[in-house]
Amino acid sequence: MRLMIPGPVDAEDEILAALAEPTRPHYGKEWLEIYDEVIDGLKQVFQTRGDLFLMPGPGTAGLEAALGSMLRTGEKVLVPRNGFFGHRLGTVAEGYGLEVCRVDAPQGEPLDPEAIREALRHSPDIQALAVVHLETSTGVLNPLAEIAAVAREQEVPLIVDAVSSMGGVPLPVDELGIGVCVTVANKCLACPPGVAPISVSEEAWRQMDARANRAHGWYLDLATWRHYADHWGDWHPYPTTMPTNVVVALQTSLRRILGGGLEAYYERHRSAARRVRSVMGPLGFKPVTPEAHTSPLITALYGPPGMEVEDLRAYLVAEWQIMIAGGLEDLSGKIVRVGHMGKAATSDYVERLLDGVEAYLRLKGYAVPQRKALS
Ligand SMILES: *Cc1c(COP(=O)(O)O)cnc(C)c1O
Repeated sequence: MRLMIPGPVDAEDEILAALAEPTRPHYGKEWLEIYDEVIDGLKQVFQTRGDLFLMPGPGTAGLEAALGSMLRTGEKVLVPRNGFFGHRLGTVAEGYGLEVCRVDAPQGEPLDPEAIREALRHSPDIQALAVVHLETSTGVLNPLAEIAAVAREQEVPLIVDAVSSMGGVPLPVDELGIGVCVTVANKCLACPPGVAPISVSEEAWRQMDARANRAHGWYLDLATWRHYADHWGDWHPYPTTMPTNVVVALQTSLRRILGGGLEAYYERHRSAARRVRSVMGPLGFKPVTPEAHTSPLITALYGPPGMEVEDLRAYLVAEWQIMIAGGLEDLSGKIVRVGHMGKAATSDYVERLLDGVEAYLRLKGYAVPQRKALS
């Protein structure tokens, strides 16, 4: 099976081989060399000189850590929403007893920085702004630079869910002044699941230190992670066991990404997105998101008139061993989402998917225009 869903992604053989090496202990000098290299590599991807932790778990663990560490129960957080993952971020915040303020944009449209500014001005007691960068449910890349400028102007700490975007598009954490930024290994970082990298800025630490009585657990409290980095830094700079196999796989993936250069890696994704859209458009698929706001990592499309998207998905799995994603919640059965991240952002994956889609449409009696060769 080839995964062309918006995570988890297929990993290259070299990364899978690294994953399969005998399990290393998660402490000691030899291990720390690997761990430190991974942290340094991630800091390059995040473009940060701040602190960075690897939290074992899914992206949501990182988001819980961010919200739970930055805020006390009862405090207000602004969570602008334009899709499933924005709603989810709000739900996670509610799980900590936070009062969630909302500014919604229509599904498929970007968040509006002006509306966010108004909401922050209107409620000066909002203690943080939490936004999804790439809304994975529709492929909208929210205007993070503009939103971050509003957060700086209004002096509100910014928490970013960059779970599906980090590594695939430029995201200069320090330049944008992001307080806490969360991602996972298994999307654009092109690794199997297992860890959530999280960056923390100095200002974010100041906000946390001013809330010593948060009472939001221990493992998911970022202050716990800082404590172990500071006090056990020479042998075990984190509170618990690390999934060392995954970290070694991530080391291998980061070497590949950084070895070729981040810009080349971003360009590979842009080029895959252009190809998918330029072929599927003329086949009758319609974008869910306006071109100007769509990400190079996920393409969300309505099917041609009369075509059943779920039938196409089942056919691609059965006949072509390719899995693409469907829609979530109200978009279920209405759209397909093609993930072209990491290994899937290669002409090998993209062309084979396009072959499969064309074959399906021919089978169903649609006219399929001659496809232009890859230039
Ligand atoms: C995938 C994703 C998540 C959830 O990640 P998990 O690892 O499943 O917890 C959160 N936010 C966004 C934007 C995502 O794409």
